[in-house]
Amino acid sequence: MNCINHNAVPLAFETDVLIIGAGSAGCSAALAAKATGADKVTLIERAGFPGGISTQALDTFYGFFTPGDNPKKVAGGIGNQVVDALDAAGAVFLRPNTYGAGTGVNYNPERLKLVWDQLLGDAGVQTLLHTNLVDVVQVQGRINSVVVFGKQGFVRIKARVFIDASGDADFCHFAGIGYETAGQNEPVQTMTTTFRMSNVDLDRYQEAGGKKMLMQKMEQAVESRTHALPRKAGSIHKMNAEGCISTVAVRVAGYSGLDAADLTKAEQDGRRQAFIYEDFLRDCVPGFETSNIIGLSSSIGVRESRRVYGHYRLTREDCLSKAEFEDKVLLCGAPIEDHRESSDGEEETHWAYVPDGGVYEVPYRCFLPRDNEQTLVCGRCFSATHDAHASCRSMAQTMAMGHACGTAAALALKLGSLLPELPVAQLQDTLRHQGAVLEAPAHRAATGPDDWNLNHS
Ligand SMILES: Cc1cc2nc3c(=O)[nH]c(=O)nc-3n(C[C@H](O)[C@H](O)[C@H](O)COP(=O)(O)OP(=O)(O)OC[C@H]3O[C@@H](n4cnc5c(N)ncnc54)[C@H](O)[C@@H]3O)c2cc1C
Repeated sequence: MNCINHNAVPLAFETDVLIIGAGSAGCSAALAAKATGADKVTLIERAGFPGGISTQALDTFYGFFTPGDNPKKVAGGIGNQVVDALDAAGAVFLRPNTYGAGTGVNYNPERLKLVWDQLLGDAGVQTLLHTNLVDVVQVQGRINSVVVFGKQGFVRIKARVFIDASGDADFCHFAGIGYETAGQNEPVQTMTTTFRMSNVDLDRYQEAGGKKMLMQKMEQAVESRTHALPRKAGSIHKMNAEGCISTVAVRVAGYSGLDAADLTKAEQDGRRQAFIYEDFLRDCVPGFETSNIIGLSSSIGVRESRRVYGHYRLTREDCLSKAEFEDKVLLCGAPIEDHRESSDGEEETHWAYVPDGGVYEVPYRCFLPRDNEQTLVCGRCFSATHDAHASCRSMAQTMAMGHACGTAAALALKLGSLLPELPVAQLQDTLRHQGAVLEAPAHRAATGPDDWNLNHS
């Protein structure tokens, strides 16, 4: 709780389900709550657009497919609706890849903002952008409302069920719900400012050796110190626009994603590094000679900050043993992809794959905070250890988490059930009915990237 005098803050309105954060998890939760029959669903977001990291910084959904030579589609539901809407606008293509996180679904992030706007609007979700959650009001041990801040000042919003999809677990923080702070027990993942460049001659780049040549040039630049690149690797890939590329290459370490002074330094460092990459690419990489940066991520990408303690915590062992759970609500086949800084300041990316291109199941209990019965938590701040989080944070999974939580919230209201006592079989049936994937590929007809019928890069 903050030091705001709650009695002095006017009540703006009441809602049934209040979702904090319009990232991939929060938008999906709002759509799912509406699809499952909740009457009043409100989504608040501090930025001026929906999508969170998906539209602030990125352009590729991972996690829809298992990696490896025989990719299988393991997520659907609301994620499918989003990809279908992007496809209808010609704003998506598949980026097949057997390495790393596997086949990616590349999208135009500006179009994705519009897609979320339209899906949320059509569903009847009340979306409030430019609205910051700043406190949680408790009355006699129960959460009564939240305090938000916007241009109008402070107002309160009362709700029956709360979904924390803020990525940073801000709601849980203000409500006194327990969490682990990234870096508290294990090294924290690094942050990244992404950037986009135009005027790239991609044919010339490919003829000169493409990715393999790029990696060699990066290594040479680091070793000969011609350009102070922070790392020797990173993704530089084609975008959904002619002659344009986007990157996940910058590496910012040593700052907290929960402190304004640290975040300021991280943003500044990220921007500085991005322009070192611009110099390097122009100077050293064929095809980039007259390219230039046309956009930086609107916020630095924070991979992890707070992870809430739930009724269950997903672990590394669960991921690597293809764990199964009675109360499964989604699947994940993505590897543990842990970007961290080693003791000598070098970038290290630790990879560990789910065996045999398989999947593990994620239980409903990972979204139920241990300390509260009125709240669900989904997306980047769900209940997992550092390693499990590093696997289950891709956006197909955060959308599936939101789907599960929005559906659970609406069902709980419909049935008059407490969230932890919700009949899980009913939740699972509803999710299946809404197109979510709950059965591992081995237990159902095989599907792969080609079955989706999207363009390939
Ligand atoms: C650099 C980087 C690269 C990545 N690369 C990929 C990739 O290529 N593919 C992939 O699938 N995944 C990738 N990931 C992981 C993935 O993007 C995230 O795990 C996922 O987007 C998290 O979604 P979310 O909805 O949980 O959180 P977020 O996207 O962080 O959304 C949270 C939302 O809550 C809002 N919010 C926060 N606090 C408040 C508040 N107090 N009041 C109101 N609103 C608030 C935020 O503005 C934001 O819109 C990457 C992550 C990073 C950081």
